[in-house]
Amino acid sequence: MEWLGLQLFAELPASGQIILDCRHNPFLVMLAYLVACAACFATLDMAERQSHSEGLNARRQWRILGACCLASGIWAMHFISLLAFQAPLEVHYDMPLTALSLIIALLAAWLAMNSLDRTVMQWRHYLQAALAIGLGITVMHYVGMAALQTSALQYYQTPLLVASLGIAVVTSLVALLMARHFRSGSGTLHLVMKYGASLMMAAGIVLTHFTGMAALSLVIPDNLPLQLPSANNSLQLGLTIAFITLLISGSSISAALADKKLQSKEHDLRRVNVLLSQLDQARASLQQAAHYDALTNLINRRGFNQVFAERLAEQTASEGMLAVMFLDIDHFKRINDSLGHAAGDELLKVIAGHIKAATRSQDVVARFGGDEFCIVTSLHNRDEARHLAQRIMQRMKEPIDLGGRRMVMTTSIGISIFPDDGRSAEELLKNADLALYQSKGGGRNNLNFFNSSLKTRATLELQLEEELRVALLEERGLCVHYQPIFDLHSARVAKLEALVRWQHPQHGLLGPDRFIGIAEANGLIAELDLWVLRRACEDVAELNRLGYGHLKVTVNCSAVTLGREELASEVEMALFQAGVAARQLELEVTENALMGDIHRTINLLKRIRAQGVALSIDDFGTGYSSLAYLKRLPLDVLKIDRSFIQDVPGSQQDREIVQAIIIMAHTLHLQVVTEGVETDEQHAFLAAQGCDFLQGYLLSRPVPLTDLPPVLERLDNLDSDFSPERGTALPGSPDRFADAPGCRAGASVARRGH
Ligand code: C2E
Ligand code: CA
Ligand code: CA
Repeated sequence: MEWLGLQLFAELPASGQIILDCRHNPFLVMLAYLVACAACFATLDMAERQSHSEGLNARRQWRILGACCLASGIWAMHFISLLAFQAPLEVHYDMPLTALSLIIALLAAWLAMNSLDRTVMQWRHYLQAALAIGLGITVMHYVGMAALQTSALQYYQTPLLVASLGIAVVTSLVALLMARHFRSGSGTLHLVMKYGASLMMAAGIVLTHFTGMAALSLVIPDNLPLQLPSANNSLQLGLTIAFITLLISGSSISAALADKKLQSKEHDLRRVNVLLSQLDQARASLQQAAHYDALTNLINRRGFNQVFAERLAEQTASEGMLAVMFLDIDHFKRINDSLGHAAGDELLKVIAGHIKAATRSQDVVARFGGDEFCIVTSLHNRDEARHLAQRIMQRMKEPIDLGGRRMVMTTSIGISIFPDDGRSAEELLKNADLALYQSKGGGRNNLNFFNSSLKTRATLELQLEEELRVALLEERGLCVHYQPIFDLHSARVAKLEALVRWQHPQHGLLGPDRFIGIAEANGLIAELDLWVLRRACEDVAELNRLGYGHLKVTVNCSAVTLGREELASEVEMALFQAGVAARQLELEVTENALMGDIHRTINLLKRIRAQGVALSIDDFGTGYSSLAYLKRLPLDVLKIDRSFIQDVPGSQQDREIVQAIIIMAHTLHLQVVTEGVETDEQHAFLAAQGCDFLQGYLLSRPVPLTDLPPVLERLDNLDSDFSPERGTALPGSPDRFADAPGCRAGASVARRGH
């Protein structure tokens, strides 16, 4: 087959002269190989750049540059190798064919770079590309050979020709795989491997060429004379081409290197940017965590301070009005103590939801920790603040299901108004706190606005604490009043509750609600309780001497007092010193006082009870103890809290509750005292329900020991249909102590007349 003057797949002619003296200039061959190596290395670099470039244009540029490197490499290798070919012939190069071979090389190289740009390369793609590129290189080689013009004819042996094609295809395949592999990676090993790959690829290309050359036989037809080569300038030409090709490869490599640096800088810049934005996010979430309460999702104190300062500045500028509200959940501690902290947390979440629902979206709602919430709202008049507070209190009364129980929480609220009650955040918060204190003191479930008298009260409180300390130390001013507890079965007073009072030199007779809290907060309560216990025992001894030996005295015991192991021995000592029998003493403990370490408390109570002292559970129904709990306690008496009897007989629900408590107490073999009985109807109802004892203003207010005999006289001589003297039972009188005589030291009691 003749193609472009080449005799392909043809047998050697029968006649003609075969030129055997063909050699290659080893220097030029080495040069050709070197050029191929450099070009291959540059191509691998370009392939790498191509895959790392992000813009389409940049990819195309690298593809073009890569194709140029590869094509120039292959072509220059081929051409320099041809220049290295030395035969005893005059050689010329056909320019168009030479150019065509270069174009074919470019096409094959372009194809190679193109296939490397695929995102996914399957084997099929590799094979197709390798075949096309190998074919291209082979065609380039033979077109290049055709450009070689001599007087001889070129005959090619089929096996070697096919082998050259095969080598070209395999070389292309290996080159593609390696280029693909070296697209990513860095470091010295990567570079060394790339060098190795370039050497191998170049070797493949050189091998293709020389296999093709090995297939060649130059035959001079018989009729043509042998033209010997004239002056040989192949070396010069070869060096020039090599120089140009190396220049192309070298500059491409430099460009790739520069681009790599630039890209890595860009990369670094981008990484820094990403890091910065991540840092920003982290800082934002830290700030969020620092300013928000994770449990309720409300802002915390820190967050509040910030927002509050902003709101204050706004209102100061616009001469507007603000309300600051402090909220405290009533008896929240009992929930934590009785149902545990998890339930407490759950409850706080619900309460936070209630508060949020009662406020407007522009109001600031914060949780200050524990059960303390704070709200800031802008308004036009004080009434708006009152309405908001009432809305919250109303919401709060919605029953909450918690730990299998349904409970109703209440809240105490204190309000201060900007600018009337202060202009600084600190002052407003302090004054709202004072107002809250007032609400809690006033029986809770209450709201109060700050007023200047509260300030005086806060100072007073501090002073009271100091004075109470002195009063306890010097046993001066404190006294005990006694409130009779009427036995409904025997129709006589059976017990007296000892209730502490303080005859203050300036403030007159103070009730326990004015100073028990102070005593509890300042570690004075145990001492106070002990003092009352001793005094009550002494007074019982006095009553015994007066002929009231059937009376018992009940003494209140705070949670702190109940937490002291010494209590059992102190009780024993108080009884012993006063010479009173243990059966004449009863200790009253509240439900929440029992909640601490139940095993220890049970032990202590058992020890006290073993002496013969009776135990009663006070304010029953206001805590959250379960019946199972109650059953385990060594109790004798249950006192139904005043709040249950207040609305009896009007409220059917309360009637049913009282009824149920009495039945339950009797089932547990506990006697029942109902406190706060103020009306005949309440008495009648309780008597009908089988209540054992009554206590309340209906019978008598708490009175000093000296005033007790006439009261006892009157109560013990009531008619069977029970109609107590109205004069002593004035429910809701503004000051319960106003008409009660103070503490008279050493007061003597008139002896009982019978
Ligand atoms: P408490 O143990 O529930 O005592 C009953 C309180 O209810 C007494 O108030 C009593 O005066 C009042 N009360 C009795 N009947 C009626 C009534 O018909 N209507 C109304 N509205 N109230 C009635 P007081 O004396 O002000 O005592 C208040 C609380 O102070 C006591 O509640 C008790 O928890 C505590 N307390 C009193 N004395 C002591 C004490 O010596 N030690 C301790 N730790 N706490 C004491
Ligand atoms: Ca009591
Ligand atoms: Ca009580």
